[in-house]
Amino acid sequence: MQDRDEPSFDPRTWGSSRPAATQDASFDVRRWGRGPTPPPPPPIRREPIDPRLRGYGIALGTGAVLALAGAVIAFANRSTHPVAPRAEASAALPAAPVATSSRRTLVLAGAAEIEDTLRSGGIVPAEASEAARQARAALGTAPGEIRLIFDLHGEPGSAQLDSLEATRADGAGLVLRRAADGSFDAKKLAAALKTRVTVVRGELDSNSFYSSAVTAGVTDSLISDFANAFSFDFDMQREVAPGDIFEAGFEQAYNPAGEAVGVPRLVYVSLRTAAKSRALYRFTPPGEREAGWFDGNGLSTIRSLMRTPVDSARITSRFGMREHPILGYQKMHRGTDFAAPTGTPIYASGSATVEFSGPKGANGNFVRLRHDNGWQTLYLHMNRILPGVTAGAHVSQGQQIGEVGTTGRSTGPHLHYEVHIDGQPVDPMTIPTGTGKTLEGKALAAFRKERDRIDQQRAATSN
Ligand SMILES: [Zn+2]
Repeated sequence: MQDRDEPSFDPRTWGSSRPAATQDASFDVRRWGRGPTPPPPPPIRREPIDPRLRGYGIALGTGAVLALAGAVIAFANRSTHPVAPRAEASAALPAAPVATSSRRTLVLAGAAEIEDTLRSGGIVPAEASEAARQARAALGTAPGEIRLIFDLHGEPGSAQLDSLEATRADGAGLVLRRAADGSFDAKKLAAALKTRVTVVRGELDSNSFYSSAVTAGVTDSLISDFANAFSFDFDMQREVAPGDIFEAGFEQAYNPAGEAVGVPRLVYVSLRTAAKSRALYRFTPPGEREAGWFDGNGLSTIRSLMRTPVDSARITSRFGMREHPILGYQKMHRGTDFAAPTGTPIYASGSATVEFSGPKGANGNFVRLRHDNGWQTLYLHMNRILPGVTAGAHVSQGQQIGEVGTTGRSTGPHLHYEVHIDGQPVDPMTIPTGTGKTLEGKALAAFRKERDRIDQQRAATSN
């Protein structure tokens, strides 16, 4: 039993084995365990060129290439992406019957640039204007880069368009092809994103979970998702240690050019410590709006209560008998004390109705919640209670209800947290928090399908 303050524990060093005395006590959640220089994200793998583009004749005259190279380079420099070298293989093709014919591949800042681009490329103005009009109509007015590929033949300034493809990042857009009668055949392209799950595995190093995850290739933005996925299963500060094995699977959408579109999404996490092992899949049950985490059997991770109501705090006093730091005699400590800087968020550990909210003598600013199963949780000494957390209000699990402070009878900023079952205080750190619900019927079938899809992709990327 720990009745006295432990040495300072730095929340930024999950799983750290460094001596606490060397650590900075200041708290900044944005810097949890962040190493000095995280390595760059893993390279994006390229996919083959959109098969829809195959079969477009490429006939390239050397003269046209030289004449227009300057224009192409100028466009390329304006773009944030390098121009894909789709035309390079064509140099080896035999000379085409038409003397001057070439293909351009460009990335434009928006659809409004298409017409000027075609004109600068040498297309006769009336044709440039008509093709651009059709492309803009298909692409819509939303902002975003446009990939433009076009084939032309003829002299600069009076060249004719043979074909054109204008697409957004997701592959949606338009293809124009010159028909026999001289008009354009237009074909709309639907978005053609493919998703792929990438799996990274790693071992917890002696610095932090953050640096271990970055080293393993977990995208920066997904690391807090990873920790949150385990919020009911592991105490990420006290139950992980160097050598523990983790795995993260994230899904990313790719467009036909093989470029990543949108943000990656964590879909699988696993963690193996000396004590236990958990593997979880993200799944949105039919009819529900939010995704949750489920084990391989479809059992939800969500419990009646979270493990701890405050992030990144150190436990300075546990449940049980102790010498009271102010009153100086043996007294039952009815809860757990979490030390954290003033202002650190305090969360409702389960969904509940607020029974009491406000200042109350030695408790300071104090909130008592009554949970759906009849249990109560108590939060003492808050710096402030959040607006709306008033008697009778409903709060959801994980919702912030206040801030750590040192109001009432308290020696420093901390949260005194109690759990009462049948009106009796119990040790918050050892109570069984119950199990979540298990998916059934159609929801379970849908979950198994998603689980198998993720597992297949995991198997495909294992090495
Ligand atoms: Zn206490």
